Amino acid sequence: MHQHDPEAFDWRADARCAALPMTSVFARRRAEAQPALRACNTCPIVEPCLRTVDPANTWFDGVCGGRLWSNGREVLLP
Ligand code: SF4
Repeated sequence: MHQHDPEAFDWRADARCAALPMTSVFARRRAEAQPALRACNTCPIVEPCLRTVDPANTWFDGVCGGRLWSNGREVLLP
């Protein structure tokens, strides 16, 4: 990582979910989210992902940091 580069332009290159369909990354339901959630399990940038997306404060819908979010709240397993 180069110090003069904004962090966002570097860490995203390592995103394990990058090649997945948008329907999985921005899933509304857990079944659709599974491929992205599995990608998170081996993703090296979980912390920057959570820090940057900041799901709780952006009302995020989809997968971020190994969790599925709906309106910024974590969708918990039943
Ligand atoms: S932590 Fe999950 S959602 Fe975030 S970049 Fe990695 S694979 Fe994608």
